[in-house]
Amino acid sequence: MPNKKPSGNPAPLKPADFDEALERYREYLKRKKLLFTRERIAILEEVMARHDHFSVEELHDSLKANGKKVSRATLYRNLDSLKEAGILAEVDLGNRHVQYEHVLGHRQHFHIICEETSEIIEDDSVEVEKAVEILARKHGFDVSRIKLQIFGTKRRK
Ligand SMILES: [Zn+2]
Repeated sequence: MPNKKPSGNPAPLKPADFDEALERYREYLKRKKLLFTRERIAILEEVMARHDHFSVEELHDSLKANGKKVSRATLYRNLDSLKEAGILAEVDLGNRHVQYEHVLGHRQHFHIICEETSEIIEDDSVEVEKAVEILARKHGFDVSRIKLQIFGTKRRK
């Protein structure tokens, strides 16, 4: 049986993940000669505390709900840097707004997306990962990351 779990279940944040993200972001900002501001820490905290897929709007709302006011422009800019730093990834859900998820401390997984209900199923199938690696190797590639989204309609019983 493949290991399936529905998305959107917030799990408790493992402090080790946050420390690793913090360290990685600090190094990234230093490399880019950018300051590690209170605002940036707040955004990183919010991103790492979430274990689901979220839009910029949702992130903006939850920051606001936690008393941290960050403009959308700042948020977009910082999400780009978090992506570049390898902490955050974009999840392409097809027709809808761009969604994000943090990837640091999360196992590589694939998204199976129902186009009718927008339900997202995550699957970390080792078989698929292996198959992709074989494919990449055939073309002389070393895999750095795999992004796989499968779109379709979930069968109702
Ligand atoms: Zn995911």
